[in-house]
Amino acid sequence: MYSLIGGCACGAVRYSVSAEPGFSFHCQCRQCQRASGTGHASLLVVPKDAMSIEGEVKYFAQTADDGATISRGFCPNCGSPVLGKSTGFPEVLLITAASLDDPTQFKPQKVVFSASRQPWDYVDPTLPVS
Ligand SMILES: [Zn+2]
Ligand SMILES: [Zn+2]
Repeated sequence: MYSLIGGCACGAVRYSVSAEPGFSFHCQCRQCQRASGTGHASLLVVPKDAMSIEGEVKYFAQTADDGATISRGFCPNCGSPVLGKSTGFPEVLLITAASLDDPTQFKPQKVVFSASRQPWDYVDPTLPVS
């Protein structure tokens, strides 16, 4: 029984998650801005053990501000950002909200790294910010 299913734009990467969506947030750090091409990344945390992935995912690794290695997973065919992982939180994976087949399943709870927010990037002003 899967609660979340999704994939990339071309369909080469598909995933399913057999757990309820965990912490969900917008990240306005500069790395997420560059990787998403816009003001923030919208991400859901899911348990690694609950996720199955089909297709090749290419990872690009960077050192995050907290010193952990963050890897962004994307489809090598169409380039869509799909997954993320951090050595700081090895038991979870991140899913990009818009990769969900039903993106309304994304219920953001917080905005993080708002210090690097862009003046044109508006998110729900009622969300807590850090
Ligand atoms: Zn693709
Ligand atoms: Zn970020």
